[in-house]
Amino acid sequence: MREFLVAGNWKMNGSTAANEALISGILAGLPEGSGFRLLVCPPFPYLVSVASQVLGSKLALGAQNVSEHAVGAFTGETAASMLKDIGCEYVIVGHSERRALYDETSDRVAAKFQAAQVAGMTPILCVGETLPEREAGATEKVIDEQLDAVLNTAGAAAFAKAVIAYEPVWAIGTGVTATPEQAQDVHRHIRARLAGQDAEVAEKVQILYGGSMKGENAAGLLSMPDIDGGLIGGASLKASDFLAIAEAATLS
Ligand code: PEP
Repeated sequence: MREFLVAGNWKMNGSTAANEALISGILAGLPEGSGFRLLVCPPFPYLVSVASQVLGSKLALGAQNVSEHAVGAFTGETAASMLKDIGCEYVIVGHSERRALYDETSDRVAAKFQAAQVAGMTPILCVGETLPEREAGATEKVIDEQLDAVLNTAGAAAFAKAVIAYEPVWAIGTGVTATPEQAQDVHRHIRARLAGQDAEVAEKVQILYGGSMKGENAAGLLSMPDIDGGLIGGASLKASDFLAIAEAATLS
């Protein structure tokens, strides 16, 4: 049985006061039970303060990005070892906003994935197609290219300590959610591609769905056999919205 992971990607939102209120709200309403994990990924300047707030709780900490380099003259970058040092367990790599707005290639994403693992963190590898790509029938081709860049450098065994997030770009921040069937089709494809190289790892890897997931649609998505949680943007910024998705994960 795979655990559910519900991860909040706060993107470039928050302030000291707002974060404290958000984390307090989440901690106050954490669902009972087991079989799920909750994670928050605040912006870099707030990682340390959020780390102290979540310490010892059931809420894990992650970052939204990481350098592919280990150390040195890379102004403005953050090494994986630094993130690990301040308590991050996870780091998002290859989010579509980074691929599209900051020209992150799949090869660079693969290097970040490996840097995270070398430092002892769990990378959350985001993959997903744009609307024109879906309409052109190229969804699987796009996913394969993004996945293979990591498979070819890190190997399938590396996914024993990684998470994959399928995030159709057309669903991110748009209010348009993939149907459970649309998402399941892609999740099944991702797991099968991995199984082609390592069936055991493929069976165990968590594959999250991301793209306008909310309390109202979470249960349907999470009921699908290959959907193991969510990567949540907008709905992770309000405790009650985030907790509604967490609740759905405990019931699925
Ligand atoms: C995201 O940015 O990873 C995301 C899924 O955003 P949203 O939930 O707002 O669509």
